Amino acid sequence: MTTDTNLKAANADTAWQDDVRAGVRHVRDLASLPLSPAERSAAQEGATRHKVRAPKAYLDLIDWNDPADPIRAQVIPSPDELVETEGELDDPIADHHFSPVPRLTHRHADRVLLFPTYQCAVYCRFCFRKESLTSIGRGYTREALEEAFAYIDAHTEIREVILTGGDPLSLPDKALAEIRARIETIAHVRLLRIHTRVPVVLPSRITPGLVGALQGRLMVTVVTHFNHAREITPATELACRTMRQAGFVLLNQSVLLKGVNDTVEVLEELCRELMYRLGVKPYYLHHGDLARGMAHRRTTIAEGQALAGALRARLSGICNPVYVLDLPEGGGKVPLGPCHIEGQDGRDWRIRGQDGEVRVYREVVG
Ligand SMILES: *Cc1c(COP(=O)(O)O)cnc(C)c1O
Ligand code: SF4
Repeated sequence: MTTDTNLKAANADTAWQDDVRAGVRHVRDLASLPLSPAERSAAQEGATRHKVRAPKAYLDLIDWNDPADPIRAQVIPSPDELVETEGELDDPIADHHFSPVPRLTHRHADRVLLFPTYQCAVYCRFCFRKESLTSIGRGYTREALEEAFAYIDAHTEIREVILTGGDPLSLPDKALAEIRARIETIAHVRLLRIHTRVPVVLPSRITPGLVGALQGRLMVTVVTHFNHAREITPATELACRTMRQAGFVLLNQSVLLKGVNDTVEVLEELCRELMYRLGVKPYYLHHGDLARGMAHRRTTIAEGQALAGALRARLSGICNPVYVLDLPEGGGKVPLGPCHIEGQDGRDWRIRGQDGEVRVYREVVG
């Protein structure tokens, strides 16, 4: 095991360090929480498969009187996680198969995933990369990324570098500045993207120092990961405002999780609050990946389609995420949203409108 130094960065602003220290950092810290006996015994075994961690700010959102609390469901190990169902996978979206060099996945010509760390500020029970996080457990070093940077240097078709992991914003400011500066030396890269749960689970970490470390010549897009409107608080609002004022484009991806956000009311409120309160555009709603031990959190695709259809009817385009499935074997993310095309007869397309009525659209081309 490597020691986890990511979250111990020297930083003048220490509020977030207190949040980390006072949270759950190890399975033994769960002893201080009011868990059910079943959760307590599951935690011991579950933690050997996927680490347990949550900052205090996030744990404080849990209503402990509600066994089905949607925040609790995301971070407290459940006995259901110990159930493995046939068809579940270690690497649900084939990250490893498309990894030409360590710490990098290249599946689409113009963009790569870069993994500066395999550690996170929180360990989400439903994580589709949890097998990488447990078995690899490596932190950031400049040397570890050298081959990946050389690969990006050599592949001039790459336009977007996506920092993911693990959680890139669990790194110290200095490491982030170093990574950003190195990427900026590569002339063909246009966009720096950061996929992170830190603004949700540890919003105090979004300091002026962190934001400054990411500012440079590149357009920066931060893709947050809110799953429920209860995660939107004055602290997450401040974190998002800090990033917006720095000029970052903010998007959100959510995972559709049974018992957490699988009703149209919950998703509608989440999407509206993201856009109207945080200025974060809902980007993707992911169908549950085939992560191990997660059958109890997955919906069927038909249920997801019904939700996506109901959301589209209620929400403006700007508030509406695209419902996608990341196909196994590296098939990429494909939209699953309800199909409006009912049939085609020559130039006549029969298409179901938002009002449910089917109309004919006759193609007219020059
Ligand atoms: C999700 C993903 C991306 C980003 O896809 P977008 O549709 O651009 O958000 C890029 N590469 C890989 C391997 C991915 O899994
Ligand atoms: S923060 Fe992301 S990578 Fe880390 S455990 Fe949660 S979902 Fe997985």
